[in-house]
Amino acid sequence: MRNRTNRVVLWDFDGTLVSREGLWSSTLEKALQPIAPGLGLAAADFPAELSVGFPWHSPDIVRVTQSAAAWWAAQHSVFLRAYTVAGVGREDAERAIAEIPIEYYRPSAWNLAEDAIPALARTAAVGYRNVILSNHAPELPNLVADLGLGPWIDATVTSAAVGAEKPNPRIFARAMEIAGAGEDVWMVGDNRIADIAGAEAVGLRAIQVGPGCTLTDAAWQIIQSTGAPLPGGSAPSQ
Ligand SMILES: [Mg+2]
Repeated sequence: MRNRTNRVVLWDFDGTLVSREGLWSSTLEKALQPIAPGLGLAAADFPAELSVGFPWHSPDIVRVTQSAAAWWAAQHSVFLRAYTVAGVGREDAERAIAEIPIEYYRPSAWNLAEDAIPALARTAAVGYRNVILSNHAPELPNLVADLGLGPWIDATVTSAAVGAEKPNPRIFARAMEIAGAGEDVWMVGDNRIADIAGAEAVGLRAIQVGPGCTLTDAAWQIIQSTGAPLPGGSAPSQ
């Protein structure tokens, strides 16, 4: 599968191709709502407790890869602490925690960026394999399919399945192995450290999307690097 000529774009997921309002905070809120509606807790009651303890908060540590159930079980203490600090009783908290994996991956909670599919289609059209590379939970490949990205994505690499988080070089190496990457590899993401610094540290070119750089702009920059004619012949937005 490894071929020097295989072109690959590694795409970050959250904040790049998709967004989920409130991410984990809103997941905890929505998982608890039907169980303890009277508590009236909102996503804003949880964020501080969710800013430590997940594997992506310690990317220097390489973990043993586990079953999906074991991965979720390893996050149990993070969820329990967040609920406990917000005043949720143990029994309600445990019932809500059991719902978190389903709520987190509820497809309707995720919003696809409007230029995600056009950007993926453009890089695919000039011969790039599109690979999602994300610090995520185990079931990310299912979500990618549920969001209709399947036709545009050659592989989905989630840190939960690798045992390493961006910017750890190990997850970039694994993604390139899975993609059969050659010399021409790009990373596109919104996080300066995990995506950009992580990719550059292993010798990849990286484009940070966000204010001033859309997914469309990133796709144009990648296409231009190949010398291929630019589709439509017009310049990208600035
Ligand atoms: Mg991101």
